[in-house]
Amino acid sequence: MIGCDCSVCSSTDKKDKRLRSSILVSSGQTTLVVDSGPDFRYQMLRENVKKLDAIIYTHSHKDHVAGMDDVRAYNFFSGRPMPVYSDEMTQQVLIREFPYAFKDTRYPGVPEIQLHSIALEPFMVGDIPVVPIQVWHLKMPVLGYRFGSFTYITDANRIEESEKQKIRGSEVLVLNALRKEKHISHFSLQESVALARELEIPRVWFTHISHQLGRHELVSEELPRGIELGYDRLQIVV
Ligand SMILES: [Zn+2]
Ligand SMILES: [Zn+2]
Repeated sequence: MIGCDCSVCSSTDKKDKRLRSSILVSSGQTTLVVDSGPDFRYQMLRENVKKLDAIIYTHSHKDHVAGMDDVRAYNFFSGRPMPVYSDEMTQQVLIREFPYAFKDTRYPGVPEIQLHSIALEPFMVGDIPVVPIQVWHLKMPVLGYRFGSFTYITDANRIEESEKQKIRGSEVLVLNALRKEKHISHFSLQESVALARELEIPRVWFTHISHQLGRHELVSEELPRGIELGYDRLQIVV
């Protein structure tokens, strides 16, 4: 956190240096990202991502969408608008927050976006099958996604039974766990551990971690088998 001197923010462990939550999913043929927060540009530069086929959004909060402007580099290389998948509510916010990208007459060089409205029906991005999962972020509906045996859920504090059913059977689950103390719109560490166990997912990583959770190394020691803290640049093969 900006200006913070806590043990996490002043740690020299790379795993304590956390940018905003986002993942890149690649099949080898198709590459997509889930969310493009304020760190999107730096994350793409750091990983030298040359080709991006789509962005899928979980919800419209700024820490998940603020980086959309920087798709312009991909527009330039691909010569086409970036396909962006989100629910209707998120789409409205994108149009409001990035009005210059959606005007009928646009300045040259603005990001070119092709909006795709999704609900809970499964869809394909290239050769990657995507199953939306609806979760709750206090009163806000947020979409999690299952890609084959890998499921990604962030910014949730409640999941209905019918949607939990879509997660069951995954080999890998990435799930948000903000901190130890209870929070109004995010699962706490304890709540996420309980959910991971309830769903019986063999390999679970936690994401969207606040500096309030504590040092990576110390918290990792407390976690049960099969559950780990995620960290920036973590790669998972499924
Ligand atoms: Zn949020
Ligand atoms: Zn968030």
